[in-house]
Amino acid sequence: MSRKWASCSTAGTLSFNDELLDLPRELGDYVIVHELLHFSVPNHGKLWKSLMRAHLGDWEALASRLPGIRQAVPPRLRSARSSSTG
Ligand SMILES: [Zn+2]
Repeated sequence: MSRKWASCSTAGTLSFNDELLDLPRELGDYVIVHELLHFSVPNHGKLWKSLMRAHLGDWEALASRLPGIRQAVPPRLRSARSSSTG
């Protein structure tokens, strides 16, 4: 299953999932830089990758941490998020 951390509309509007705020700072940066680069590079080609590296360094290591990030969020944060009574 893939999560949608952010989206970019054709009108040039970026939207971010507020769960990004629960992520470690460097992973939030990864998602944001990823999307911002799509304004100038619409794909994940060679240019996009080299820009990612210029901004984030070892971005592939960050990317590999994202799919499992749900398990990394402390349970108390998850239950706070899922409560709609507050
Ligand atoms: Zn992308």
